[in-house]
Amino acid sequence: MTGERLDIDVLVVGGGLAGLAMTARMAVAGYSALCVEAGQRPTDETAERDKRTTAVLMPGVETLRKTGAWDEIGAGAQPMVGLRILDCGGKTPDAREDVLFDATELGDGPFGWNVENGKGRLALANRIDALRNATLICEASVERSLVRRDGIIATLSTGQTVHARLLVGADGRRSTVREAAGIGHRDWSFGQKIIACRITHSAAHEGISTEMHHVGGPLTFAPLPGNASGVVWMNPDAEAERLIALEDAAFMGALQERSQGTVGTITAVENRATWNSGITVTKALTAPRTALIAEAAHAFPPIGAQGFNTSLRDVETLAAITEESDDPGADAVLSKYARQRMPDILARTAGVDLLNRSVLSSMPFIRDLRRMGLSTLGKTAPLKRFAMRVGMGG
Ligand SMILES: Cc1cc2nc3c(=O)[nH]c(=O)nc-3n(C[C@H](O)[C@H](O)[C@H](O)COP(=O)(O)OP(=O)(O)OC[C@H]3O[C@@H](n4cnc5c(N)ncnc54)[C@H](O)[C@@H]3O)c2cc1C
Repeated sequence: MTGERLDIDVLVVGGGLAGLAMTARMAVAGYSALCVEAGQRPTDETAERDKRTTAVLMPGVETLRKTGAWDEIGAGAQPMVGLRILDCGGKTPDAREDVLFDATELGDGPFGWNVENGKGRLALANRIDALRNATLICEASVERSLVRRDGIIATLSTGQTVHARLLVGADGRRSTVREAAGIGHRDWSFGQKIIACRITHSAAHEGISTEMHHVGGPLTFAPLPGNASGVVWMNPDAEAERLIALEDAAFMGALQERSQGTVGTITAVENRATWNSGITVTKALTAPRTALIAEAAHAFPPIGAQGFNTSLRDVETLAAITEESDDPGADAVLSKYARQRMPDILARTAGVDLLNRSVLSSMPFIRDLRRMGLSTLGKTAPLKRFAMRVGMGG
């Protein structure tokens, strides 16, 4: 491998869900694509360990379909036919507003599917292996890169040299591609942590994802096959640390109390993990021969299933623009990508920021305003449909 030269069209750095989807989508678009991932190769064993779930909305499912990996990803996924939002921001934690957004109000199919991240990454890696013009190299990174007029030259930690016409940074919130390209970013946090886990419970969820807006942070139950749900629970730092330190039984008790019976009785919990919550947004999406996608460009707290769905819009937009060009890294391609994606990224960032601040706010007036907004949406059918379309990425 050392000294080997690889001539390709697109080099994707980072093989999370977004980077793998980008690699497969570019290969399907007809470009040769290589993904370099610092971590372990996705396997059945890594899939078993990473049971975090992601709600993928229908436009994102369409992009995954285009990669050719959807059949495998969708096989173990749960369709989501409703989104229920409970406002619990009053003096007591009881729900004071309860609005169901029903997918049938928009059309026949579901809003989307809740997929396990580990299985999703494995399916995308399998798809890359099956495509003759796509490659995944794991436990590797880019050590040096040089940007030239017609492309980039990257030296990998494996000793291989890659000549590519386009470099895509999909290497997450702390993106080294973004840094090496000299692109600045803004970062802010809310002093919150995210706890994610998987539970089983007595009540049927009926394919409905429930988001409870409690003072201190939202609590979401995303449906999984059977009487199981993926839980995403946000709390102020100190409370999150207290909760994560609890034994399983005490943790389940705290979650049971907070859930107010939304999923009946919680019978088991597994795969508890925590993340810091905050917002990162890039100051630019491109530099010469370079494009940023997904969390390298935008990361937000998991409210309203916006993170990966926004990432899949990056993937689809970049792939669709390159399909119209002979050179995937041409200036015209990159500026069109930035023009098409930046307004949506900034709008989603502002929307999630505002919603999270209103949930966190200690001022009853702000929380009452949010409740009124939700109540109006629930009672006004055209507004409700509009909000559903915006949430889906329309
Ligand atoms: C608890 C939680 C729940 C969420 N739920 C949802 C949801 O329901 N719906 C939704 O739309 N979004 C959700 N999100 C957001 C979603 O998970 C992310 O947007 C999505 O995973 C895409 O992330 P990514 O691929 O950009 O980054 P990551 O998953 O962080 O992947 C980046 C990859 O780059 C690799 N890497 C880093 N540096 C290098 C380097 N120098 N060289 C090579 N490789 C490198 C890393 O190893 C990693 O594999 C959630 C997030 C969290 C934390």
